[in-house]
Amino acid sequence: MGRAKISLRNGITVEYAAASYALDPKGQAKADYTFVSHAHLDHVQTPDPGSKVLASKETRLLAKARGFDLGKTTETADDVNLLDSGHILGARAICIGDEVLYTGDAAGRDRAFLGRCRTKKARVLITESTFGRSNYVFPPVSQIVKDVNSTIGMLFDKGRPVVLMGYALGKSQILSHLFASWSPFYVHEKVAEINDVYGQCGVSLRMGKVVGADLEGLSPGPWVMVAPMMSSRSKVAQRLKKEHDAALVAFSGWAADPGYAYSIGADYAFAVSDHCDYNELLGLVKEVSPEQVYTTHGFTAEFAQDLRKLGFDAKPLSGYQAFLSDY
Ligand SMILES: [Zn+2]
Repeated sequence: MGRAKISLRNGITVEYAAASYALDPKGQAKADYTFVSHAHLDHVQTPDPGSKVLASKETRLLAKARGFDLGKTTETADDVNLLDSGHILGARAICIGDEVLYTGDAAGRDRAFLGRCRTKKARVLITESTFGRSNYVFPPVSQIVKDVNSTIGMLFDKGRPVVLMGYALGKSQILSHLFASWSPFYVHEKVAEINDVYGQCGVSLRMGKVVGADLEGLSPGPWVMVAPMMSSRSKVAQRLKKEHDAALVAFSGWAADPGYAYSIGADYAFAVSDHCDYNELLGLVKEVSPEQVYTTHGFTAEFAQDLRKLGFDAKPLSGYQAFLSDY
């Protein structure tokens, strides 16, 4: 089989064995296949009608819940393997031949009901590098769960409610699973919407009582609520603080930055991420053992530079406007 040709048209396009594959294109892309790695809005679009859509069933359902119709999707095609990337429910990496592995967004460890990104050996690796700088190393999830539970316990002792904040799709479902044993337990309506789709896909999450943006129905006294990430300056956060004396707890990989909690006005922040941390990114690259690495998203230049020091031929993808490789 020939070698793949990789180009940047509306994102990344791979040509391999007479077929073309648009990987998470930014808009409709004219390609034989459009690969949608997962349902986060920076990866989802309405695909070109002439293009077959490679995506998981979960991604199709989650995209639909967010207003994007992927149409008919398939998980199988000649020369293609979709691998669970562990990032959110249904997230996939794609391996084309044994030539190109594209990770999409990839997790580096087990969290609740999700695992880490599966890999395969490939000649070319296109990897995400969101946390591709050496200061982004996250503590074990078990340690964070312990720390969060003792923080909630301490706040409950003072009679204070706790708002656990993460991205509505992905992080909030992990939080709904990890901290479901607290009571009373509330779920913001935006989170409940997604928890519902997870339920349809076989991951049942504790719903508790669903609370709308008007915050009607919250009981007095301590409780736990899972809510979308919000700044302390938002109206809802202001009301949660003023009317309920609630503590805001943020969950993000960026919490590895010491100033993160302060920057968004959260009372506490914990580094739970749906992406690989720096060491996990290095581990992923070593596993795939590629001849060529392209980095995309986040610290592309820094991570590629660190990989070159380790002997990999690595380049950031963002800097390339023309054909990357022409064999
Ligand atoms: Zn994502």
